[in-house]
Amino acid sequence: MNDNNEGDKTTIRVQVSDAHQDIILDWSKDWYDIKRDTFRQLAEFTGIPLKNSYDISFSKLPVTNDVYPENPFVFRAGARAWFRVTNSYPRPEDIQLPRSLAPCKKQDFKDKFFRDGDCFALNTRLKMKFTLEELFVEYRLVHRDLIDETECSSSFCHHTSNKAFLDKQAKITNSDLESYLRAQPRPDPLILDRPYTIADELIDPVQIRKRKILADFNIGQYFNSYCKCLDSNLPFVRHRLRTYWPNRG
Ligand SMILES: [Zn+2]
Repeated sequence: MNDNNEGDKTTIRVQVSDAHQDIILDWSKDWYDIKRDTFRQLAEFTGIPLKNSYDISFSKLPVTNDVYPENPFVFRAGARAWFRVTNSYPRPEDIQLPRSLAPCKKQDFKDKFFRDGDCFALNTRLKMKFTLEELFVEYRLVHRDLIDETECSSSFCHHTSNKAFLDKQAKITNSDLESYLRAQPRPDPLILDRPYTIADELIDPVQIRKRKILADFNIGQYFNSYCKCLDSNLPFVRHRLRTYWPNRG
């Protein structure tokens, strides 16, 4: 343990185009508390309730030339460093790495991923649980070094990274929409159990119902990104779904 308290903290910045928040990683705490603090500070920034925060992923340029297993965040030379944490406690280890479930230690995050002053741009992906009863948000944090100043890419969208967009998502997650959803008829559990394919999106009653709800509340644009770039590197052709039915009355 480092005796110097200052040296035991790393400050990173999370930003959208017109707002930012500094987040302090206090390495004197245990990993779960650091993780909890990070979710809490992000919730303060976005206004989206902590209970609706599902996960956070971080990506950046690697801080060393090492690759796995020396650097558990990088799996091949030239790749970006990446990890994801979920807002769940206290599973012994819930860090999901691209090709491995190799455990990371707190020291790995401190020494091999974060650097003081790291600045990450934020995308928030608002989603509805498959059972159509809960809303959740995925936080995607991409280091500024990986982002073109104006162009969107497969990993970051400028159009949805601003305070007005966040405020709208916060308003939706703080509304009584979830109560409304839970009061609605539930999808048939048999539908939920069977294997699900991409093609099913067009005919699946759950997806149809979901699109109807989003259309009725006129909030589809805060759930589905229309930025083409986000889909550009998918390994399959996927039809872009209409948020609203064309024949909606
Ligand atoms: Zn975009």
